[in-house]
Amino acid sequence: MSQPRSVDADVVIVGAGLSGMIAARTVLAAGLVPVVLEADDRVGGRILTEDVMPGVSVELGAQWIGDTHARMFRLADELGVETFPQYDEGETSYDLGGSGVLRENEFHTRFADELAELERVLRRLDELAADVPVEAPWLAPRADEWDVISAGTWYDNQGLSPVARTLLEICTVGILAVPTVEVSFLHLLFTIQTCGVTAELFAESEGGAQTTRFVGGTSEIPRRLAALITDHIVLDSPVQTIEHSTDGVVVHCRGGLVARGRRVIVAISPTLAGRILYDPPLSGIRDQLTQRLPNGSAMKAFFVYDEPFWRADGFNGQLISDVGPARMSNDTCIPGDDHGVILLFLEGDQARTFGRLPVDERRAALTAELVRHYGAKAATPEFYVDGEWSDRQWTRGCYNANHGPHVWTTYGEALAAPIGVIHWASTDTATHWSAYMEGAVEAGERAALAVVDSLP
Ligand SMILES: Cc1cc2nc3c(=O)[nH]c(=O)nc-3n(C[C@H](O)[C@H](O)[C@H](O)COP(=O)(O)OP(=O)(O)OC[C@H]3O[C@@H](n4cnc5c(N)ncnc54)[C@H](O)[C@@H]3O)c2cc1C
Repeated sequence: MSQPRSVDADVVIVGAGLSGMIAARTVLAAGLVPVVLEADDRVGGRILTEDVMPGVSVELGAQWIGDTHARMFRLADELGVETFPQYDEGETSYDLGGSGVLRENEFHTRFADELAELERVLRRLDELAADVPVEAPWLAPRADEWDVISAGTWYDNQGLSPVARTLLEICTVGILAVPTVEVSFLHLLFTIQTCGVTAELFAESEGGAQTTRFVGGTSEIPRRLAALITDHIVLDSPVQTIEHSTDGVVVHCRGGLVARGRRVIVAISPTLAGRILYDPPLSGIRDQLTQRLPNGSAMKAFFVYDEPFWRADGFNGQLISDVGPARMSNDTCIPGDDHGVILLFLEGDQARTFGRLPVDERRAALTAELVRHYGAKAATPEFYVDGEWSDRQWTRGCYNANHGPHVWTTYGEALAAPIGVIHWASTDTATHWSAYMEGAVEAGERAALAVVDSLP
């Protein structure tokens, strides 16, 4: 990871997140020379493990993979990163629709009808999503109809009771990190289809997306990947301008570094890709697309205690609530360490509202939420940390790009289609587990193989 003033390569790659580094590795394996230009002083992008105390690390970014994340399992295996299962014993704690705090069994008994309604709607979503072609969602037979309404409007029209509707909102915001009123219904169906079925998206057990964690932290993946291609990564090099022609690209970074290549792969979220200056300018449709793909809003807040006291009380560390700032939580203890670590999610409007508060106020509000669910012991953590992603210059929100109504059908074809020598990667362009690490790997491989194919 040296700091040259100019560099020549076959393929210039913008961004050393998972997608960019996988693209670089794929290009290298094909016998071509990549150079990865990374704006930040580290690799990994939306993956960020932070050591907070001896023996305790927290995932401010990506944390889990699920059973169908085959590329990620393969990658972890290749890199020698071991995995362990998410803790999932005990009951979830609920507080919804004015119910007060209820243990899972109580909640399921009292709200059996509402849960059946929810199940009915999830099955319907699975049926409809099956009609969405993930390579081209705008070609779904009912794309025009589905893309002009929000997911929230569709939910509102399902005749749901308030508790079922609230649960649906919480589950969906937990994935898309924006209120459902901002999400195209077609985009919701696309998201479901890229992941399989709603059960895989929402569940933490039985094949869900959040079943498995990485020993040593998720950052072990980008760290070890970077070690394999270290001579091809340049840090602290924000790409500002991409000059492109049929002959190739000249990429200019802040600080003066210039990289020349035959192709470029832009492996950053569409909204950040739209902030790069292209010379000559890109088509109107591509620019209008990037004007319309804002990243979601999510924060993770971690409390570290001397022990996971909630486990002894029969809780799994998960809460689902429409009362406090956090709508959901997880037990994120590290196996082999005695500390109790609990993670609270702030997503969508919750992240927007509480993310703007001073950290002490945010921490106090979240502490009160934990105390309501898990009792007085929750009031005295040893440590607190949270991570706000919209403040980070090289991410500007998460988990991924949101497609509001009328974007897929009007501009969708410009999302991943190469423009001359410019190719697009990042999880936001994936067709399998888009928004997840799995999608980042898929998109990086897809873009790199397309580049390799296009070069003599
Ligand atoms: C809080 C949070 C929780 C998440 N939880 C999960 C999870 O549990 N499971 C899961 O699978 N996924 C999760 N994700 C999503 C996952 O992190 C992403 O899907 C994945 O890491 C995206 O990788 P990427 O390479 O596509 O993009 P990024 O990680 O965003 O990488 C882009 C890189 O480009 C750099 N960059 C940006 N602009 C420029 C520029 N102009 N010039 C040069 N470099 C630039 C950035 O610094 C960054 O390193 C989570 C994400 C967040 C933020």
